[in-house]
Amino acid sequence: MIEIAQHSPAGCGAPSVWSADGRAIVLSCIGCGRIDTAQQCAGTCGEYRLEIVPAATHDAAIARLDAERRRAQVLGAATERLADHASTPDGWQAAYRALQADAREVLRDLATAPGDNADDPEQPLAVWSCGCCGRVEAEAACIGVCADERLEVVRGSVHDGVRAELEVVGSRVGKLNGLVRQLAYVTPRAGGWEAGFRALQDRARGLAAAPALASPPEGRGGA
Ligand SMILES: [Zn+2]
Ligand SMILES: [Zn+2]
Repeated sequence: MIEIAQHSPAGCGAPSVWSADGRAIVLSCIGCGRIDTAQQCAGTCGEYRLEIVPAATHDAAIARLDAERRRAQVLGAATERLADHASTPDGWQAAYRALQADAREVLRDLATAPGDNADDPEQPLAVWSCGCCGRVEAEAACIGVCADERLEVVRGSVHDGVRAELEVVGSRVGKLNGLVRQLAYVTPRAGGWEAGFRALQDRARGLAAAPALASPPEGRGGA
């Protein structure tokens, strides 16, 4: 779900608290959980419900997506080498063995690459947001000790976009990894080299023909 860009110019007399890539700094009470922005506005624009997530959660998801994309690339290349393997001058066993060694090396390299620490999706925080400047507010029952800390947050829709991509890339990595692992660790019985090779190659061609992954969207706030 993509949210509509904010009205411009702000009709409430306040500048937008949100950056173009959907980030903002809010004040979050570590005692009661109340959230607001230091900014005041005329409040003439109406408020709508908005979900936000801590930027740290979002950035962890982006890092994981980058790691998964690298895995998809490396596993995809190994899959293509299998799919494209044409002639077998030395016989099926030699071809199988050569690609098997290749697959084992790919998996070894991936095992030493920076890990993709699975993260628990954090529950988004629901706040009210000004329809013009995006000022946010979420009341909480005060417990008598309020201590505000600055918290960078990201609009829930932006975070959802990354999570959706993560699911797509992760699913592709799962399929590619299954094939490369099978090539790496399953060895045909005597007499089964050709059948084994062809069966894996068919799967590799099916996966290699799958639509290419979308390139990373711009404006993620990196660099
Ligand atoms: Zn406003
Ligand atoms: Zn408080």
